[in-house]
Amino acid sequence: MQVLSSIGRFAPSPTGPLHFGSLVSALASFLDARQRKGKWLVRMEDIDPPREVAGASDQILKQLDSHGLSWDGPVLYQSTRLDSYRAALETLVKSGLVYHCQCNRRRIVSLDGIYDGQCRDLKLPKDGQAARLRVDSSNIYFRDQITGDARQNLHKEVGDFVLQRRDELYSYQLAVVIDDEYQGITHIMRGSDLHDSTARQIYLQRCLGYGQPEYAHLPLALNTDGQKLSKQNLAASLVEGNEASNLWAALDWLQQSPPKELQQQSIDRILQWGIDNWSLNILAQNPKDMLAPEGY
Ligand code: GLU
Repeated sequence: MQVLSSIGRFAPSPTGPLHFGSLVSALASFLDARQRKGKWLVRMEDIDPPREVAGASDQILKQLDSHGLSWDGPVLYQSTRLDSYRAALETLVKSGLVYHCQCNRRRIVSLDGIYDGQCRDLKLPKDGQAARLRVDSSNIYFRDQITGDARQNLHKEVGDFVLQRRDELYSYQLAVVIDDEYQGITHIMRGSDLHDSTARQIYLQRCLGYGQPEYAHLPLALNTDGQKLSKQNLAASLVEGNEASNLWAALDWLQQSPPKELQQQSIDRILQWGIDNWSLNILAQNPKDMLAPEGY
């Protein structure tokens, strides 16, 4: 069925080149969007300079391009969106939903990451303090297209969460919600390490009067130690020149059963096969994290 207004996205952080795990997320969201005849956007989440690696943004875009994953419109760089984050934060401050918090990292760690609201009613000034969003005690429910029904109680499981850090950097949760709305994203597909952030994002959407996109959280590709492939775990960058086999391996890993002979085809043929045969249902039947293929 054709849904004209469908928009998906891939939103990498430029902390290193693409590895097999990030290729899987990019490819799955691309195939899903293209099968629905929707748009597929790329957004560079470059709002955390201490974590960034010089040249990584350009390298990621080059790698997407060499895999034939062509995006619609210009890439949105979050570093150009700071005024919008500031304005949204001010709106929330004005409506009394945000307060400033002086608790240090050691105290937060001692709370096992669930903030207890100690600074809620202290009316601390803004200077040098983190800004937190007050959560309420209701449950947030959502239906994930892959992992099924989910429920989180932010008050019990997360606590009031940070929208702007003490070092003035805006949080991932704030920026992602504002930009998903700004770009009109209707379908969010990403790794299931972000499943736990979804209730926070839905709550924030409601506070800001935004709509709620569909969510689908993909299984994670693991290394032989059972850890998610990530830049922190030094996952290997995708090798230039292996694009067709990378795409085939990612389709196979996504349980789409690509035929063997497809491996010898061009990347355009492989992608077209992927678009024609893409099935979220197959993944939803067995959404388990799995070892990345050998060599990745
Ligand atoms: N920038 C995030 C990451 O690279 C992904 C954000 C998202 O898809 O919501 O992990």
